Amino acid sequence: MSDDKKQTGGCQCGSVRYEVSGSPMLSVKCHCTDCQKSTGAGHMMGAAYLDGQFSMSGETSSYSYQADSGGTVTSEFCKTCASTVISRSTSYPKMVMVRIGTLDEAMDFKPMIQVFAKHKRSWDKDWPDVPSFDEMAPAPGK
Ligand SMILES: [Zn+2]
Ligand SMILES: [Zn+2]
Repeated sequence: MSDDKKQTGGCQCGSVRYEVSGSPMLSVKCHCTDCQKSTGAGHMMGAAYLDGQFSMSGETSSYSYQADSGGTVTSEFCKTCASTVISRSTSYPKMVMVRIGTLDEAMDFKPMIQVFAKHKRSWDKDWPDVPSFDEMAPAPGK
């Protein structure tokens, strides 16, 4: 994958649009209960980009909560259609987590890790060959 590769995405109604460039720093399948409630599914699929790789237009509202990982997570969602497009965590400053279901083009996506597997629902299947952690994965370099 070339590093200037651009991908676009946005909310359900199209008011919020964003662009990411290059490859994500991290991609994750998160089974935490916050992600289950927020997505209405068994997990959230996210790809983390540096702020410099990301730009967004359109009006969003936000919701902040204390995450299982310990940091404060702020989700940003469209004011009109309520689709959550991104989130940020105080645990990972200068990074933005894009919800990959909001990308326009379906990409060949496989998460690097699966986290909070202890909350995994029995009907939600994993990749057997992707590392899975009961809670948060240890941060790189720690
Ligand atoms: Zn919208
Ligand atoms: Zn989560």
